[in-house]
Amino acid sequence: MSLLRIEGISKAFGGVQAVQNISFGLEAGELLALIGPNGAGKSTTFNMVGGQLAPDSGQVLLNGQSITGLPPRTIWSLGVGRTFQIAQTFASLSVVENVQMALLSADRKIFSWWPRAASHRPDDALALLEQVGMADQADRPCSALAYGDVKRVELAMALAHDPQLLLMDEPTAGMAPGERVTLMQLTRQIAQQRRMGVLFTEHSMDVVFGQADRVAVLVRGQLLAEGTPQAIRDDARVQQAYLGT
Ligand code: ADP
Ligand code: MG
Repeated sequence: MSLLRIEGISKAFGGVQAVQNISFGLEAGELLALIGPNGAGKSTTFNMVGGQLAPDSGQVLLNGQSITGLPPRTIWSLGVGRTFQIAQTFASLSVVENVQMALLSADRKIFSWWPRAASHRPDDALALLEQVGMADQADRPCSALAYGDVKRVELAMALAHDPQLLLMDEPTAGMAPGERVTLMQLTRQIAQQRRMGVLFTEHSMDVVFGQADRVAVLVRGQLLAEGTPQAIRDDARVQQAYLGT
């Protein structure tokens, strides 16, 4: 059974058919890149998996169970995590406190809020920071970090909830080319270790073809092709519609 299975989902906004009858699946431990031009329907697809939008038709299945149209908080509690295009951390808190906040939230103690975070599972927070290579900066305020490091902290925060599936919409936006590859290499290692599936969107073809296990191509709301990076790179329709070669 697939970790995630999307079956024929569609979404229109007024007269705009943002996503039209798309289907694909994702296995545990796998990185699937969803690519396509601006306006292709990538974020709309993410939002239908994460619960921010309900599909007009079709099904979203997590481990074979329908999560279609459930609220975001419920989908999150079923093991679907998410990072954002602009990294979201508490700038005035330290790196380790940010991860402690995420652990509080994962433990359903979000309402106890700061300053309780300071004493919450410090060793687990540090272990997560080790995984993303940020333990040596644990006590710095997030506001003092380079942007690429903020993205690592955000990844550690997403892992605090131990998701089965992580949704990353343009995780490397605003990063330098070298940093992009590094962040997704790290994500890939962590996904393999934890058997966590990752669905991500990405504009850098170095990252897509270097790090993804499979690639799905959306064009004008439709799934044009899906397959291994090599198969997608060699697909004449993809080259014509998107890669521009
Ligand atoms: P992508 O993430 O691939 O750039 P989106 O999913 O954001 O694409 O958008 C797909 C299409 O749906 C675009 O034409 C966009 O303008 C439209 N769209 C997305 N969200 C909304 C919304 N909330 N209201 C109206 N139109 C939207
Ligand atoms: Mg988008």
